[in-house]
Amino acid sequence: MSVIEKLTKPAHQIKMEDIIREGNPTLRASAQEVDLPLSEQDIILGEKMLEFLKNSQDPVLGPKMGLRAGVGLAAPQLDVSRRIIAVLLPNPEDADGNPPQEAYALREVMYNPKVVAHSVQEAALMDGEGCLSVDREVPGYVIRHARVTVDYWNKEGQKKRIKLKGYEAIVVQHEIDHINGIMFYDRINEKDPFEQKEGLLLLK
Ligand SMILES: [Zn+2]
Repeated sequence: MSVIEKLTKPAHQIKMEDIIREGNPTLRASAQEVDLPLSEQDIILGEKMLEFLKNSQDPVLGPKMGLRAGVGLAAPQLDVSRRIIAVLLPNPEDADGNPPQEAYALREVMYNPKVVAHSVQEAALMDGEGCLSVDREVPGYVIRHARVTVDYWNKEGQKKRIKLKGYEAIVVQHEIDHINGIMFYDRINEKDPFEQKEGLLLLK
């Protein structure tokens, strides 16, 4: 049975052991575009990826299933070299600790996503980035575009164009990097990981 057949079986839930780690060549490959209209298999894989993220963020299920909390996952991280990413970004509680009106700022599976335009300004997360495929801390500013326009197809097969900034833009760029064989630490200045580049927007 192929990896994708196993992952898309009805009873299968994606777990940490399905996620490949740095050193695996699939993470360094440029992934294949998915065919349109989308296959049933690609749609199911996307749903499973989103479900994994949801489980990983669940305060009860996450630890029970031994999951590291994540906000994004790309198919190559499952050893499936296809251009599919899932992002699940929860909105924060309000100042009084009440749940947000909209649970998620971004909840989407993107097929063949592509950055079609970006700002000149760069941005980085103040605390650096992590990755479910990297079992170690790699400190430093991961230099990315502050704002991006992304084209993709959704699971209904509709072409979408979204403009992103802030944390959402960072996460989507991290996941799109995965389908291009790029790891987050490739974008850290090796000689000066916390270099204060002029105009760099640091995000909390
Ligand atoms: Zn990653």
